Amino acid sequence: MEQLEQFREEVRAWLEENCPKSMCSPMTGDEDACWGGRKFSYQSDEQKLWLERMAQKGWTVPEWPKEYGGGGLSRAESKILQQEMSRLGCRAPLTSLGVIMLAPALFKFASEAQKLEHLPKIASGEIRWCQGYSEPGAGSDLASLQTSALDKGDHYLVNGSKIWTSYGDMADWIFCLVRTDPKAPKRDGISFLLFDMTTEGVSTAPIQLLSGASPFCQTFFDAVKVPRENLVGELNRGWTVAKYLLQHERNMAASLGRSGSGKKKPIEQVALETLGEKDGEIADPVLRQKLARFHIREQAFTLTMQRVGDEMKAGADPGPASSLLKYYGSETNKERHELNLLIRGMDSLGWEGEVFDEGRVARSWLRSKANSIEGGTSEIQLNIIAKRVLGLPSSS
Ligand SMILES: Cc1cc2nc3c(=O)[nH]c(=O)nc-3n(C[C@H](O)[C@H](O)[C@H](O)COP(=O)(O)OP(=O)(O)OC[C@H]3O[C@@H](n4cnc5c(N)ncnc54)[C@H](O)[C@@H]3O)c2cc1C
Repeated sequence: MEQLEQFREEVRAWLEENCPKSMCSPMTGDEDACWGGRKFSYQSDEQKLWLERMAQKGWTVPEWPKEYGGGGLSRAESKILQQEMSRLGCRAPLTSLGVIMLAPALFKFASEAQKLEHLPKIASGEIRWCQGYSEPGAGSDLASLQTSALDKGDHYLVNGSKIWTSYGDMADWIFCLVRTDPKAPKRDGISFLLFDMTTEGVSTAPIQLLSGASPFCQTFFDAVKVPRENLVGELNRGWTVAKYLLQHERNMAASLGRSGSGKKKPIEQVALETLGEKDGEIADPVLRQKLARFHIREQAFTLTMQRVGDEMKAGADPGPASSLLKYYGSETNKERHELNLLIRGMDSLGWEGEVFDEGRVARSWLRSKANSIEGGTSEIQLNIIAKRVLGLPSSS
């Protein structure tokens, strides 16, 4: 106990000395996130410095072993680090699909050489990853994917196309599902490959979202040579890796938009500032009631996510219950944006110009609609919950 208290003091002193001022102010939106990678334009020198300092301590991934770029902290120590970061309002030093999605799969399925090669570069933010799962003909029915990888001895020859590849044009490497046995039943002929986006034959074409942003691409592979050692897990057993990774992706998606220190402003505070206060309460009684209901649901969900997070850190696999969290989390985030619009009124629909903050509110409201599509649609999560969590009979 004493040791932990001493650790807390050390962490507090280190953070106070090393977290740059602008990195302990609330994020104003998704564009404040630090993604790292070779192509990333840092918002400021302080953002870069914060990432470098935290990565040097291994605190971008505090509980990973030190040999993989982590901090080697115990769960209790890591919690203290989180608490002290929250206390000071520190921003997350790194937002990374590598950390949240790929790394858990590498820890479970990759060879030691693959772990040593890739995990430290994920932890330091040196390499940014994208996900090559969906294809023009394979979204909800992902196992129908057709991108092929032919065995050429020392390499696989990859041909095909992926779609909705988030930040494909900004990523350095891709983790990709490919068909290695076209004759096998569809889930049995898939493998999980890693490759460099600068490999000859890889190209990307950005696609624009309804919000006006262009966060994803169609990604093309034209005779891409992928070294044999970049296969993760067994040949033709990639579906197992893919599903495991998806469970982690869904847990991440579930936590979208939850407020907290260093993150977005709590919606109740937005309401107080916009609608004013009457007798110490939000002035509009109807909205106050809606917000109270939302707040209770959000708090219950936050606690559930914390419990699941602790269980996962203790070694539990997320399992199909991650669909429950994904469903609830994305629907909750959509509701938060609906409430935000109700609070701010017609002005929030402004699309361009300084007075409307370049349409920040409207654009993020539209962006939130994609939450119940990305990482698997809400309908698909409900199917999984019905079948795998509740054990209801399937119609097919
Ligand atoms: C913002 C965003 C980012 C994304 N990023 C990535 C990424 O980085 N990498 C990647 O690989 N993919 C990514 N995706 C793709 C995403 O995983 C797919 O869009 C999603 O799985 C749905 O597939 P689809 O678009 O082909 O829709 P479809 O599968 O064609 O579904 C269309 C509609 O039919 C419904 N439906 C389909 N099958 C069933 C069923 N069996 N029961 C009930 N309803 C059903 C769906 O719920 C949906 O409403 C992203 C998507 C979005 C929106």
